[in-house]
Amino acid sequence: TPSPVTVTVTGAAGQIGYALLFRIASGQLIGPDIPIKLKLLEIPQAVTAAEGTAMELTDCAFPLLHSIDVTDDARQAFDGTNIALLVGARPRTQGMERGDLLEANGGIFKPQGEAINAGAASDVRVLAVGNPANTNALITQAHAPDVPAERFTAMTRLDHNRALAQLAAKLGVGVGDIRKLAIWGNHSATQYPDLFHAEVGGKSAAEQVDRSWLADEFIPTVAKRGAAIIDARGASSAASAANAAIDHVHTWVNGTAEGDWTSAGVVSDGSYGVPEGLISSFPVVARNGRYEIVQGLDIDEFSRERIDASVAELSEERDTVRKLGLV
Ligand code: NDP
Repeated sequence: TPSPVTVTVTGAAGQIGYALLFRIASGQLIGPDIPIKLKLLEIPQAVTAAEGTAMELTDCAFPLLHSIDVTDDARQAFDGTNIALLVGARPRTQGMERGDLLEANGGIFKPQGEAINAGAASDVRVLAVGNPANTNALITQAHAPDVPAERFTAMTRLDHNRALAQLAAKLGVGVGDIRKLAIWGNHSATQYPDLFHAEVGGKSAAEQVDRSWLADEFIPTVAKRGAAIIDARGASSAASAANAAIDHVHTWVNGTAEGDWTSAGVVSDGSYGVPEGLISSFPVVARNGRYEIVQGLDIDEFSRERIDASVAELSEERDTVRKLGLV
């Protein structure tokens, strides 16, 4: 049998954690034959709750689940880790300024970056889910200078999946009939879901919908879907976020299909005018265990404006955390 993969989940006692852990332990994160060692990180007051989740995981008797450690110590949680899912974050509370939010999250993600740098496996891959995900990923990466920057990513796969579902419903096709959709920029309300390179049945998706639907319905529906779910459910999305985290890692490890791509927040190399070093969402392919930005796409004026606006927000977030000494 293959050797076990160590997976660390932070915020393990939270909603997303609860939706995520059972799927990881059942083999859906990487592959159905690969044993898993789970390491759960929580803040001290949530450790007991995480231990309760660990008891339930044990009670599932998952054949692939080798071990579960629960801790409030980041060094211990990231020791030897191959896959780090950073879910726990400081949520924005009423009246909180963005700078305060970024600072509070810096207090979480800086020590996690340091712990990853100190003890993670040499092939570690990191996904930030907790918001503001892109900048949290950036802070983590900044404190792990010995780990290649490309190993730090932020989740926009849920936005990607939401966009796939909206387009499929509009055109009356299956999500599997859609190729080459992309989310650009920040995982926030400024994100830009791009249909201009997307194909449905081999033909341009943008040409199969009218421009007013695209601009006035599709883009805002995707960008505000999280709020719509809170309104309906009385709680934020959790299972769909967990599902997207699974998709993100599964694709990263196993690759994208030929002729298709996906979306992920990755470190910019300056492509498409996105300042180098920002963690921005791009159309990406996964090959040989790496996410690579799709190159050479034509960007029209409509898209350019929206990509630039979202990237400007990312630059501002980076400026704020720079001033705070967090990157
Ligand atoms: P959730 O599990 O619902 O969410 C966790 C994080 O994921 C939040 O930052 C949330 O952002 C973010 N997120 C990203 N995408 C989505 C999405 N599509 N839908 C919903 N959330 C999304 O939060 P809980 O409060 O239930 O649990 C958080 C847990 O994290 C708590 O148990 C807490 O103790 C723990 N924690 C652990 C830390 C650690 O391990 N060091 C540090 C801080 C907290 P948003 O707030 O914008 O919804």
